[in-house]
Amino acid sequence: MEKKSRREFLRESAAAALGLGAALPMVTSACSGAEAQGQVGAATGSQWGMIIDMEKAKDPAVREACTEACRREHNIPRIDDPKERIRWIWEEEYQHVFPDQVHDHMPEAVKTEPVIVLCNHCTNPPCVRVCPTQATWKRESDGIVMMDMHRCIGCRYCMAACPYGSRSFNWRDPRPFVDTDYEGNFLSEYPTRTRGVVEKCNFCAERIREGLDPACVEAANQVAEGAMIFGDVTDPNSEISRVLQSQATMSRRVSLGTGPNVFYLV
Ligand code: SF4
Repeated sequence: MEKKSRREFLRESAAAALGLGAALPMVTSACSGAEAQGQVGAATGSQWGMIIDMEKAKDPAVREACTEACRREHNIPRIDDPKERIRWIWEEEYQHVFPDQVHDHMPEAVKTEPVIVLCNHCTNPPCVRVCPTQATWKRESDGIVMMDMHRCIGCRYCMAACPYGSRSFNWRDPRPFVDTDYEGNFLSEYPTRTRGVVEKCNFCAERIREGLDPACVEAANQVAEGAMIFGDVTDPNSEISRVLQSQATMSRRVSLGTGPNVFYLV
């Protein structure tokens, strides 16, 4: 019964999408109930943000520390096939992260330099606008773009809408690929996911609730102090605001108007 209604829903959604045209118009046209309730991009409270120091993150140990800390914290599977890989925080070449910053005279070494990337917890998140079930939404209190895996129907509209490739789809059951201890227990209590759902970084909402920094920030700073800064970008007295206001930073594909809240110290 559940399968049938899910199939029907997807069929209806696909038909609706065809009516709307290509993926880009969907970003602005396929509005969810969340938008109707004023939840899309309506960060009326604070807004968590992150700064990644690109110089410090050149150290592979910094990058590995943060990606592995995230993997442990969220039971992220190790799947080698790039088409099926699950990524919350990972590294990409500079030329793919900042395509609008690349020019013909740039050294190859700079173009191919690895840069840490994750969900930008955008101020105007197109992924939220297209979700037909409100499985993803922007939290009004602190601007985190959340995911409810139980509400996700796997339509992957959010993946098409995200211009940063920040979302992954579970093409298979991820649990056999999650690290365990010697007794076979997962390394964290964070809920594991199932086949057929989308997932992404949640800015460690579960740790923030406990007053902790995100796992990646804590781990990176243990390797190189100040490699990552996390805080409220709406608080003028926060460390992140002070750095943003006093030093040169950039964010990804600003011209799209998504308003990324992950910044890069150059
Ligand atoms: Fe959504 Fe992508 Fe922005 Fe994250 S980076 S909030 S997934 S559009």
